[in-house]
Amino acid sequence: MFVYADNAATTAVSKKVVDAMVPYFSEIYGNPSSLYSVGQKAKDALEESREKIAKIIGAKPKEIYFTSGGSESDNQAIISAARLGAKEGKKHIISSKFEHHAVLHTLDTLEKEGFEITLVDVHSNGIVDPVEIEKAIREDTALVTIMYVNNEIGTIQPIEEIGRICRDKNVLFHTDAVQAVSHVHINVKEQNIDMLSISAHKFHGPKGVGVLYAKNGVTLTSIINGGAQERGKRAGTENIAGIVGMTVALEDAVSRIDENNANLSLLQDKLIEGLKKIPYSNINGDLEKRIKSNVNISFEGVEGESLLLLLDQKGIAVSSGSACSSGSIDPSHVLIAIGLPSEVAHSSLRITLGEDATEEQIDYIVNTVTEIVEYLRGFSPFWDEMMSGKRPHIFEN
Ligand SMILES: *Cc1c(COP(=O)(O)O)cnc(C)c1O
Repeated sequence: MFVYADNAATTAVSKKVVDAMVPYFSEIYGNPSSLYSVGQKAKDALEESREKIAKIIGAKPKEIYFTSGGSESDNQAIISAARLGAKEGKKHIISSKFEHHAVLHTLDTLEKEGFEITLVDVHSNGIVDPVEIEKAIREDTALVTIMYVNNEIGTIQPIEEIGRICRDKNVLFHTDAVQAVSHVHINVKEQNIDMLSISAHKFHGPKGVGVLYAKNGVTLTSIINGGAQERGKRAGTENIAGIVGMTVALEDAVSRIDENNANLSLLQDKLIEGLKKIPYSNINGDLEKRIKSNVNISFEGVEGESLLLLLDQKGIAVSSGSACSSGSIDPSHVLIAIGLPSEVAHSSLRITLGEDATEEQIDYIVNTVTEIVEYLRGFSPFWDEMMSGKRPHIFEN
């Protein structure tokens, strides 16, 4: 059996999306900036996509900018807010400790330029407390940036509340909604969101294309300079096929949010029930305020990487924390942020189901993980020490 359960890392492009994209490679290949008809047809597809995406998130078409994906959107949102703030002498930015590296590393760069960064703590259940955001806001705060759904533990943040606080205090608010758009209903106006990042490949669209929503009046700083595409805010000939594919993927995903969540919820419960039977294990992140596709679990005395590689041999593709951190020996910054000791962070597994997951696949995952955890514990010195009482257990049995 092959089970792809790493949908937070990326997803398969659906057939519907591929079919929608194909004509834009070989028939309607014109440059949207060209005045002849094959160019204008591409331009029409571009603007139609912009309108559709705007409608889905409750924005206006001119508030939608196409980018190369989530990382670029995060970079541009944060840099733009920083430049706008600096003009008024505001050089303080608030974020959280468990953001994606596209956010955290952009903030590192700004810190070197003289910005002051406050990273609020994340509660042990994987939720940022709006009260802490409110307390951290100062006269010179230029931006608050908090992710909508965490990519490792799937927890959903109180975005509307944080947005309201920012609005009241007159501070710009950006959210990385890359893991959220296909799981949660988003309306940027109702939820007080000034800027928002989307990436197509997380909801069965192609890689290398995304959206930055920026509210009317928020002037973006161009980080890719050149031609006047995207109203002068993002140069480069538009990725029309990618944009069309992303639009079809987003419409499809959003129209099925409730149906998918209902199905996934049953599978998530079954998966959690099954894995919790493994002694000395712990589910990471709030059980209620999480998207239905994500299960993140730690097993005492087991190396996450070893578990991942043995699961791969059995046809199960999962992740041990964030894909971005594999290959490096650092424990996941997300799991550290929610207070897990680093050896526990190293022993965690992220399973992210696709909408087409089946009960049979869940059974296969549970049985295989149970077997491999037992096998790995068989030659773990940590596990021996814990079982013989020389080292305390971290979780209850
Ligand atoms: C995947 C991801 C990104 C990066 O998106 P890319 O399109 O791969 O650049 C940013 N933020 C979050 C939360 C993600 O999961």
